Amino acid sequence: MTHIKKILIANRGEIALRILRCCRELGIRTVAVYSTADREQKHVALADEAVCIGPPQAGRSYLNMAAIISAAEVTQADAIHPGYGFLSENADFAESVEKSGFIFIGPRSDTIRLMGSKTNAKAEMIAAGVPCVPGSEGVLPEDEQVCIDTARQVGYPVLIKAAAGGGGRGMHVVRTEDELLEKIQLARTEAQQAFRDGSVFMEKYLETPRHVEFQVLSDGQGNAVHLGERDCSMQRRNQKVVEESPAPGVTDAQRAEIGALCVNACKRIGYRGAGTFEFLYENGQFFFIEMNTRIQVEHPVTEMVTSVDLIREMISIAEGKPLSLKQEDIEFRGHSIECRINAEHSRTFVPSPGEIKKYHAPGGPGVRLDSHCYACYRVPPHYDSMIGKLITWGPNRTSAIARMRQALAEMVIEGINTNIPLQRRIMADEVYCDGLHHIHYLETLLGQWMQESE
Ligand code: ADP
Repeated sequence: MTHIKKILIANRGEIALRILRCCRELGIRTVAVYSTADREQKHVALADEAVCIGPPQAGRSYLNMAAIISAAEVTQADAIHPGYGFLSENADFAESVEKSGFIFIGPRSDTIRLMGSKTNAKAEMIAAGVPCVPGSEGVLPEDEQVCIDTARQVGYPVLIKAAAGGGGRGMHVVRTEDELLEKIQLARTEAQQAFRDGSVFMEKYLETPRHVEFQVLSDGQGNAVHLGERDCSMQRRNQKVVEESPAPGVTDAQRAEIGALCVNACKRIGYRGAGTFEFLYENGQFFFIEMNTRIQVEHPVTEMVTSVDLIREMISIAEGKPLSLKQEDIEFRGHSIECRINAEHSRTFVPSPGEIKKYHAPGGPGVRLDSHCYACYRVPPHYDSMIGKLITWGPNRTSAIARMRQALAEMVIEGINTNIPLQRRIMADEVYCDGLHHIHYLETLLGQWMQESE
């Protein structure tokens, strides 16, 4: 066991601030790293030490492994927290961090590598008894006839996905046999370009599933728990927009059953850290699609319903402490919703960097705002458009929605465009309020919203 005294936060924005807040609470010293575009970041001002790691382009700063590791050396940090995005799921980074003598706050590099391949991850899950989307056994071979036969067995429509995929890229739906080979070729080319790995695989394409994911904590010493599920079905182009916990309609028995399967899978692979098992959920059935080996954007909704601080647990696991939580200690209370606040036009989705002129944060019972923004903060154009997360909690879903409506009505960000108007529209939507939406529903709602304004 090691006592971590100083953590380097290898990220920016709201998640860097979230990690910093946790460290301060625990009396752990912090090192912020930042690009020249991020000198004005809140967590940079609050950190005990801050190191500039390069120019604005992420490739030369937040993705620059050597610069980050030397910042840890110079400041004599004990551990590195990667947050989400950037290097958080890069097995080579995790490996260099540990080889350089620092603790990586996350899984072992070989676990990241294993789960980074969706086909290997699926094979592991099948072995652990976790239900998966029916599809090809591993990567599709070059042999065209085998591909045609596989698609016939799986049944159209099928989805071609990149084995090394991420961010919803390189996926193609195939509805009929005559377009199969051409779409496979297209997916291979895209996967090669995006992930430098052209391997693709096939899955049954589910028409109107929901996205439901399970949060786990596992210490890599044989102890693991699940913290229930999140519904992230409100998506645009495979990017989550609203998340919540629990998932509407999932029963206590289903939660216990699928949660236990995830826990077993963690034990089987010796998983260490916080992780998420993503499933598609259709007609009351769960189908595993992939595992995320890091903290996720939407982790606060789980924290709100379980009262477990996930960042704190990640740090404790990284120190080598056995998990202090037992499954029976985890109680689910009430309902929590998260709305992602993005610096983008609500209808066109065009990113909107620039200076925030006015900023009023909402408040009141059950309202949490995780954001690095403030009045006069300039949103740089170089990174993801997410500038914060508004989270509410209520004793039930209706109350969490009512609080979210109130909080969104109070929230003011002027000077740049944000998606707050879209979030208000979603919270007013009947289908959403009845919990009847699926992963394609937001597209329908957007079409409807366009007509309403004409
Ligand atoms: P990525 O890692 O690129 O995000 P995922 O496997 O997590 O890829 O899938 C992203 C999204 O694509 C899912 O949240 C879901 O909306 C959709 N999707 C993935 N697999 C399927 C499938 N078999 N059928 C229908 N939709 C799917």
